[in-house]
Amino acid sequence: MSTLDGSIRDDFPILRHRIGGRPLVYLDNAATAQKPVAVLDAVREYYETSNSNVGRGYYRLAFAATDAYEHSRSVVRRALNAEHADEIVFTPGTTAALNLVADTFGRAVVGEGDRVVVSGMEHNSNLLPWRRLCDTAGADLVVVAGDPTGRVEPAQLAAVLDERVRLVALTHVSNVLGTVNPVRELVAEAHRHGVPVVVDGAQAVPHRPVDVRELGADFYAFSGHKVYGPMGVGVLYGRRELLSELPPYQVGGGTVKGVAPTGPVRYVPVPARLEAGTPDVAAAVGLAAALEYVEKLGWPGVRAHNEALVRAAVALFGEVPGVRVLGDPAAEPAGIVSIAVPGIHPYDVGGHLDGLGIAVRSGVHCANTFVDRLDLVGTVRFSFAVYNTEAEVRLVREALRTVEPGF
Ligand code: PLP
Repeated sequence: MSTLDGSIRDDFPILRHRIGGRPLVYLDNAATAQKPVAVLDAVREYYETSNSNVGRGYYRLAFAATDAYEHSRSVVRRALNAEHADEIVFTPGTTAALNLVADTFGRAVVGEGDRVVVSGMEHNSNLLPWRRLCDTAGADLVVVAGDPTGRVEPAQLAAVLDERVRLVALTHVSNVLGTVNPVRELVAEAHRHGVPVVVDGAQAVPHRPVDVRELGADFYAFSGHKVYGPMGVGVLYGRRELLSELPPYQVGGGTVKGVAPTGPVRYVPVPARLEAGTPDVAAAVGLAAALEYVEKLGWPGVRAHNEALVRAAVALFGEVPGVRVLGDPAAEPAGIVSIAVPGIHPYDVGGHLDGLGIAVRSGVHCANTFVDRLDLVGTVRFSFAVYNTEAEVRLVREALRTVEPGF
């Protein structure tokens, strides 16, 4: 186990990889984070020692697989400080989790003439499920733009919370500008009006300890792969009173107690009712290893490290003539800094950096409406993780000095 002071890079085999003969500088962690050996080993060990299907077989190997899967659920419960393990549903990712809430809870509570409220900086994964729900139900989607960085203040939310609003869906952290929403206060405001809140935590969970009880969120979604876990697994947390009432999302194996050729189908309780079919057990095991890895590094250090990188990036990129740091990522750093270079397309900036072995994301980041509102064709986004260094940030600054239009 390494520490954050340098040897941590040895935990991540991909960082030994070279891109065009140069060391890989990986700054696209908001898209997906790299995986430490602890996670790769956990996945491999699961397949080598316990692999079988879960919740079905009556033999020792099947019990071992089920135990590993349920242990992973309890690790997620602890990481989120949820009260009960059965409040944790494994999904393929954040997108799947949000679609699950929209198509079950959303359908149950939103009807004709009702309203769903979202913020102006939502990723398409926390916008389109609600848009489709509203279109189907004959309801209206209300967008609260917030301040120029996208942050929504409780008073701005309160201004739209009338008796027609059935649900609020908000991102915790913007994947474009790194803006942090004051989720606890926003949830409290919505609850004062009797409105439940769904939170997209995809960009928050990698950067801060998230306590769902402290936030008061009714539903909270995140993806394992952005927090050093494998792809293929994510989480939907739901408060027991609400989650336990949800009908199945997909129906099929693992969701039923009994099915007769005709008549009513008897479904099992949550979370199994919401996890139809064979889950990605190895990915869930890997996610638990990832959360334990971060826990061992220690959240205060992880958070301080990522915050320091954001502050360094804001200061150093701001030194380059023509570079505009967007929003206010240093206000409450959350691992993301976006820039624009007027006169140079974000793809040209990204291509130039790639030529130097620096991997960043350029474009609209699946948040088209937010980027439109910023009046940009896209941004160049730098997103940090535990293995990034200030030396890498300085390297980017030097690379930005030599970027040219029409690369
Ligand atoms: N929400 C936010 C804020 C994101 O940044 C992302 C991914 O970039 C998602 C949702 C979707 O996550 P996934 O593709 O893992 O389902």
